[in-house]
Amino acid sequence: MSMLEPSLGWAQAADDSDPLKDLRERFHIPPSAAGDGPSIYLVGNSLGCMPKGVEAEMAREFDNWKTLGVEAHLQGDSPWYPYHESLREPGARLVGALPHEVVFMNSLTVNLHLMMVSFYRPTAERHKIVIEESAFPSDRYAVASQIEFHGFDPKTSLVQLKPREGERVLHDEDIIEFLKANASDVALVMLPGVNYLSGQVFDMQAITAAARQAGCAVGWDLAHAAGNIPLKLHEWGPDFACWCSYKYLNSGPGAIAGCFVHERHTREGSGSNFPRFAGWWGNDPNTRFEMGEQFVPVASADAWQLSNPPIFSMTPLRVSLELFDRATMDALRAKALRLSEYTQVLLEARLGDRIQIITPSEPERRGCQLSILVPGQSRPIHDALGKMGIVTDFRAPDVIRTAPVPLYNTFADVYGFVEGLERALSAGD
Ligand SMILES: *Cc1c(COP(=O)(O)O)cnc(C)c1O
Repeated sequence: MSMLEPSLGWAQAADDSDPLKDLRERFHIPPSAAGDGPSIYLVGNSLGCMPKGVEAEMAREFDNWKTLGVEAHLQGDSPWYPYHESLREPGARLVGALPHEVVFMNSLTVNLHLMMVSFYRPTAERHKIVIEESAFPSDRYAVASQIEFHGFDPKTSLVQLKPREGERVLHDEDIIEFLKANASDVALVMLPGVNYLSGQVFDMQAITAAARQAGCAVGWDLAHAAGNIPLKLHEWGPDFACWCSYKYLNSGPGAIAGCFVHERHTREGSGSNFPRFAGWWGNDPNTRFEMGEQFVPVASADAWQLSNPPIFSMTPLRVSLELFDRATMDALRAKALRLSEYTQVLLEARLGDRIQIITPSEPERRGCQLSILVPGQSRPIHDALGKMGIVTDFRAPDVIRTAPVPLYNTFADVYGFVEGLERALSAGD
């Protein structure tokens, strides 16, 4: 920490020497509500900024449609028939998977359901799903409805892990202890890689190992992890993982989502035998257009694809994944750690105990996001920041989420945010 200084000069020097600084130029940063240039946009955890390359790529696909019509499926410089395959390798690099373990399809909650159709197979002895008490609402609704769909009752089959008395985030070791001692009736463990509210990063490797040791299926919701922290899904070995692409992946509202299925379930002769909702795009592409009666699943995560994919939704993702490849997750992580450390140092230096950071302070337990409380005033302070052109996000009852992201945020952004926060607090005194 000694190298960081809570001054604007330090922030500007850090930006000048930032090896990723050119990437900011590749994004549209929304203008400030205060009318003084770009906003300080700290909500890449909610909706990432638009990559500038998207417009030209969209125009190109519109043009293909305009000029080639149906022939664009097989002709042109980016034929649509294999288009989704071009996302597989960059997607795999992003989440530490093998290319055939990754598919982009549908949206996040839809994919959670499709994965649970295959990997939540409750029996009278093992019927529970473990989530966190502060799970994202959609995940909670999805698991509860799956439990009910199988004729069980969420009151008895849904386990919600709670933080220790008086604390706001879970301890990894408590989750692992729970799985060691209490998981004999648990069918599925479904936790987030990064909690959406606190920004806490879970020890996915250790929890996955503990869940599998206990005989449970395990799936990760990586909505706040993909594009935020480095992942090693293949090595860690969960059964599945799902993530959306509009947060850290900057692929636009409702963008097409990602899905991982570990290859042990799809390898030829793997012996895996599970129910699956099938559609023609999950069929072996070599026989797909024979229009046969029998579904022949392709031996990869693509087997869960139902429909022919939405090209216009994949185009922004393709542009975005190129930027991640250019930057690399390791370099992004290195900058993200410095950005969040700098945010914390500045907040502590300038605001002391007037605010509280609920995100864990250990670097390995957090990503880009810092969640802050201003006791009794979080909402008005969030609103005041907005008027100054500092975009943060408020989650009831009392959390302000901020996420300086390494692709397009700067150390000067962080400085401006903390200064704005100080001004907003003084105005309220
Ligand atoms: C953002 C988010 C969602 C949103 O789900 P959609 O299906 O994309 O609308 C769900 N779960 C978590 C944990 C999220 O962070």
